[in-house]
Amino acid sequence: MNYNGIDFDTYFKYYPDQNGYFGKYGGAYVSPELKKAMEEISEAYFTICKSRTFISELRRIRKEFQGRPTPISHLERLSSKLGNVQLYVKREDLNHTGAHKLNHCMGEALLAKFMGKKKVIAETGAGQHGVALATAAAYFGLECDIYMGSVDIKKQAPNVARMKLLGANVVEVTEGLATLKEAVDAAFAAYCKDYKDCIYCIGSVLGPHPFPMMVRDFQSIVGIEAREQFLEMTGELPDAVVACVGGGSNAMGIFSGFLNDPVEIYGVEPLGRGATLGDHAASLKYGTEGIMHGFNSIMLKDENGEPAPVYSVASGLDYPSSGPEHAFLHDLGRVKYDVVSDDETLEAFYTLSRLEGIIPAIESSHAVAYAMKLAKEMGKGSILINLSGRGDKDMDYIIEKYGLR
Ligand SMILES: *Cc1c(COP(=O)(O)O)cnc(C)c1O
Repeated sequence: MNYNGIDFDTYFKYYPDQNGYFGKYGGAYVSPELKKAMEEISEAYFTICKSRTFISELRRIRKEFQGRPTPISHLERLSSKLGNVQLYVKREDLNHTGAHKLNHCMGEALLAKFMGKKKVIAETGAGQHGVALATAAAYFGLECDIYMGSVDIKKQAPNVARMKLLGANVVEVTEGLATLKEAVDAAFAAYCKDYKDCIYCIGSVLGPHPFPMMVRDFQSIVGIEAREQFLEMTGELPDAVVACVGGGSNAMGIFSGFLNDPVEIYGVEPLGRGATLGDHAASLKYGTEGIMHGFNSIMLKDENGEPAPVYSVASGLDYPSSGPEHAFLHDLGRVKYDVVSDDETLEAFYTLSRLEGIIPAIESSHAVAYAMKLAKEMGKGSILINLSGRGDKDMDYIIEKYGLR
């Protein structure tokens, strides 16, 4: 399918290019030292990802450890409540550890193993990426250092306990505001010192090349399964595919399966409390081009051009940029990016729980909320939503703050 001059039949062969660019977005804006490390990972990935032992090992792990393929469920009660549009969810909440993140963490850790590394390193904010990576490290018998700001360590005690239980070493970062940004800096500094023996594992389609590409490739299993399953269930493709976008990994996973199809694709960003800078994390909607954390993309900046403070009820979505491939698909118009507020998201969280027996992650609830609005606009047809994770982690907070509705 040709779309605005891009041939999607051969898209994955040419995007990103050799240097990690999706059009003008992406690249690797890092120190010479780190550049060397990224090139080593790139080279290894290009060789290893084609090897038959790597592919069959990853396939086996997905089936026997992660519980893939995850099913698609038809939301019959919610659909009939909204009208004539049929809603479906791809159940990444049923992936082991309860979200899509393990898809790329298992891939990254398997790559580390094939490269002969002893340790994986990452930062974490809310702790979801840390838990997924600690799980992968335990499975492969790799050491695991997770850098986390001391403020986040206090806020996210259950995830800290999980990481420790899984054998990870949680490194407390006390500099600056002691949250995600400082944790990123500390983790990168540690990696620079130690990159011969370890590999940095980025938690989304972000960071310097090759991570946006690698993480997309590992997540693309979601789109491959979903396309096949949807065709088998309904005999057709969905009219629309919807996913929430923080960094953008679950979205790239499902989108990649449908880019070359006559399917409308929607990425949903968090509008939080409203459109004022600081009240949301809708970088593609309100941001401008800029470089941060090693890549060029569309980002939210403060008056000094630094990453702006962001907010969302979903801690997995509060990042001031999105992956470079999303910026590219945004400019191209192939994917439409829109927003939903905290309030609309909460409504969807309660509705899906009550009508379908699925308690969604508050991140995924953004996609559900948007699909509910879209269903009313469309009037007929079908929508496939990527349900990126389950809501157990959010339940206590939401009930305490908003009550049982
Ligand atoms: C982390 C997380 C997200 C956001 O990350 P993406 O890279 O944008 O997918 C979304 N949903 C869940 C359940 C998460 O844990």
